Amino acid sequence: MDRTAVAKVSAVASAGVCVLFGGVVLVQYIFTKKKRAARKTRIIDMMPQFEKSTVHMKDPEHVEEIICSLIKGGASKLQIITDFDRTLSRYSINGKRCPTSHNIIENCKLVTADCRKQLLKLKETYYPIEIDPHLTMEEKFPFIVECVILMKIWQKCISCILVCILRHVLVCVFVWDPHRDGHEQFFDQLQKYSVPVVIFSGGVGDVLEEVIRQAGVYHSNIKVVSNFMDFDENGILKGFKGDLIHVYNKHDGALRNTEYFKQLKDNCNIILLGDSLGDLSMADGVPNVDSILKIGYLNDKVVEDQLEKYLDSYDIVLIKDETLEVPNSILQKIL
Ligand code: C5P
Ligand code: MG
Repeated sequence: MDRTAVAKVSAVASAGVCVLFGGVVLVQYIFTKKKRAARKTRIIDMMPQFEKSTVHMKDPEHVEEIICSLIKGGASKLQIITDFDRTLSRYSINGKRCPTSHNIIENCKLVTADCRKQLLKLKETYYPIEIDPHLTMEEKFPFIVECVILMKIWQKCISCILVCILRHVLVCVFVWDPHRDGHEQFFDQLQKYSVPVVIFSGGVGDVLEEVIRQAGVYHSNIKVVSNFMDFDENGILKGFKGDLIHVYNKHDGALRNTEYFKQLKDNCNIILLGDSLGDLSMADGVPNVDSILKIGYLNDKVVEDQLEKYLDSYDIVLIKDETLEVPNSILQKIL
């Protein structure tokens, strides 16, 4: 073969390779585009909030199904059951852990150094157990109950310090602004569409009520079930009213509030918001549940075992997400 022939053959060959390569790229492009277009038919894929790196789901198809069912039911069938501390309230600001409704009392200037030391000790013992990924809820339970007993001592401790401080003075002293970004939109749209909200908290009810009141979001559609301080006729703090609620006895909630949930028998679709695995039981015993979407904030101890447990239990897990953007985006679709 002469040189010209060889050059011709190689030119044809390289043209062939180019065409082939171009073809492969084109097919790939069409395939990806089609796949993307197909994916975009899911509601959760059309919501930019779900693209955030904080959003994790074990079974996105299942989440899609629940959201579709919630959308179908609309506002009239919806109700919200939510935890407060570290769910509606932030976990941290600029890397610093925020106080809970309990801690805010400990930080109060009126608490003596000695009492603060005792309370800190209580927190240091209790909190690591509460978030320990290697302990089951059953294993944690006795410690939490022990903590509740210690809280009785705590109540006495607080009451002797705060004697003579009237209720309204007391709660005003403790005000802090702990809300996650987007809380106004969250509460306002739920009020606008008269969606019932129950805040079910193992925190301090008086503090959290005052906090949402001062934020201007304590609307008439909200019911707070929590530990409320008990004051005597002189306004002196005696302790807490009734049985204490803590993170691992929330399954009693519906039972303790049968009348409330009976009235909501038509609100058979639930969005549950929590940050602890104990919060998952907040809707236990609610009669007539059709669909329930569980959204969990994983704020701390984001280790593999813990993440797996959260992904197994919550439909959507929000890791180190200090906002209410995802719940708000879902509400916007439903309402
Ligand atoms: O609203 P929620 O049910 O989350 O309130 C309970 C929270 O209060 C728990 O996360 C727990 O860590 C916190 N707590 C606290 N100090 C206590 C008891 C509970 O910070 N003495
Ligand atoms: Mg909480």
